[in-house]
Amino acid sequence: MSLLELDRVTAFYGATQALFGVSLDLAEGEVMALMGRNGMGKTTTIKAICRMLPLRSGTIRFGGADITALPSYRAARMGLGLVPEGRRCFANLSVHENLIAAARPGHWDVARVTGLFPRLAERRDQGAATLSGGEQQMLAIGRALMTNPRLLILDEATEGLAPIVRQEIWSAIARLKSETGLAILLVDKSLAELRDVADRAVILQRGESVWSGAFSALDDAVTTRLIGV
Ligand code: ATP
Repeated sequence: MSLLELDRVTAFYGATQALFGVSLDLAEGEVMALMGRNGMGKTTTIKAICRMLPLRSGTIRFGGADITALPSYRAARMGLGLVPEGRRCFANLSVHENLIAAARPGHWDVARVTGLFPRLAERRDQGAATLSGGEQQMLAIGRALMTNPRLLILDEATEGLAPIVRQEIWSAIARLKSETGLAILLVDKSLAELRDVADRAVILQRGESVWSGAFSALDDAVTTRLIGV
């Protein structure tokens, strides 16, 4: 069954059109990569899904419900768990307090999050502002999981991190997929790592979805032309 469906979504920043027709279809339990060169509309698509940007036209359905016109807090409550670009946490709260502040009833609690990211247990009482970039990213993912989402959305979760920390994030994503079957939509530039976890891909070009299919069907011709690798 479809968990998330975008149908010809268009959106503007003021007078500037950023999305010209984005369609995608993500099933329960699926990991989907949202791809495309810089500035093609990946973050904007995520903002539209999370209802942080109004649509000009098109529809968004989540869990069978039309969420096109919902405010973002209600979309979040329905199970959209966003880890935004730039990993926002409460800087003046500790790791533990950050996790607790995000909690909503469900399978995920602090013990389970720290099982996925043991470093967060080691840093339990440390202020979020004093964490390394990688630890902040783990905390941001942990916070999103504490909301018990039906869909986890990761926007450039490994960007700017040291290789060893990136690997920790990727293995956490792989564990989330294999152990929990959580649906995940992710934007990332690391094609090789995406290949290990993504079931499907959607590629954006100038605000429009121009390719979608099994990740394994992404060949060199497509990646060179549309992703630039
Ligand atoms: P990147 O990989 O560089 O993050 P992206 O694919 O996520 O790129 P978006 O950030 O969604 O791209 O940007 C899509 C288009 O919308 C770009 O042309 C960008 O300049 C424009 N844009 C993004 N944010 C705003 C904003 N707040 N106001 C006006 N235009 C914006």
